[in-house]
Amino acid sequence: MSTRSTARFVRYTISGHPNGPVSLHARCMHEGCHWVVLPTADHERVGRAMGHHTASTGHALFFRNVEELAVVTLTDKAEQERRADANRLEYEHLGGAAEDARDSA
Ligand SMILES: [Zn+2]
Repeated sequence: MSTRSTARFVRYTISGHPNGPVSLHARCMHEGCHWVVLPTADHERVGRAMGHHTASTGHALFFRNVEELAVVTLTDKAEQERRADANRLEYEHLGGAAEDARDSA
């Protein structure tokens, strides 16, 4: 197997960032209804609002969207660390560290 074909099988893991925001919004799917809940981090508020809308209108179908900050990492931890080291060396070689020091002064 060549190096090129091996590189095609690199696997990535996608997960929610542990400190990232998660927001929800919803909209009613009843024909002609334009009711929405604007994006919010208060998930319980979205659920309560949907329940109130159903109670007052009988509309029971909603699109509920979840938006989160996602992180993509290599599944192979050794390869992830090798690439991080290579990126760090390249960054330092290009003078990024010196530039950071100048910016923070
Ligand atoms: Zn509705």
